[in-house]
Amino acid sequence: MILNLAVFLCTLTAMEGIGYLAHRYIMHGWGWFLHRSHHEPHLGALETNDLYLLALALIALALVAIGRAGHAPLQWVGAGVAAFGVIYVIIHDGIVHRHWPFRPRPRNPYLKRLYRAHMLHHALKGRDNNVSFGFLYAPPMHKIKQQLRARRRG
Ligand SMILES: [Zn+2]
Ligand SMILES: [Zn+2]
Repeated sequence: MILNLAVFLCTLTAMEGIGYLAHRYIMHGWGWFLHRSHHEPHLGALETNDLYLLALALIALALVAIGRAGHAPLQWVGAGVAAFGVIYVIIHDGIVHRHWPFRPRPRNPYLKRLYRAHMLHHALKGRDNNVSFGFLYAPPMHKIKQQLRARRRG
C-alpha cells in the first residue's frame, strides 16, 4: 500500500515536469495546430486543445488496464496521470480560465500565483518564445517577468 501511494505521488509530481516539457516543446512545437485554439479568443465550450486532455485520459486508462492485467503497480502510475489531469482541469479550466458556468476565484496565495503566471503565458501571442509553461508549479513572478521582457526584446 505504501509503495502504491509512493508510485502514485511520484507520478503526480513527475507529470508536472512532463506536462511542462510537453507544453513547451510539443504543444508550442509541432503540436501547435491543436494547442493554438487555446491561445485564441473563445467561441465555444470546447476547443481542439482539449484533444490533449483526451490523449492524457486514454494514456491513464491504458496504464490502469495494463496494471490491472498483471503489471502492477502500473495502475498506480495511471492513477497519478489521471489525478494530474483532474487537478489540471479544475485549476486551469475552472479557476484560471473560468470556462465553467460557476466561477471559482483563486483565493489562496498558491492559486493566485498559478493564475498570474498562466496569465503571463497568455500575454504573449503566438507559438514561439513564450514563458511560463508549467501547470501546477509557477516560478516566482519576478523571474517570469524577467523572461517576458527578454522575449519581448528578442
Ligand atoms: Zn500554451
Ligand atoms: Zn491556458
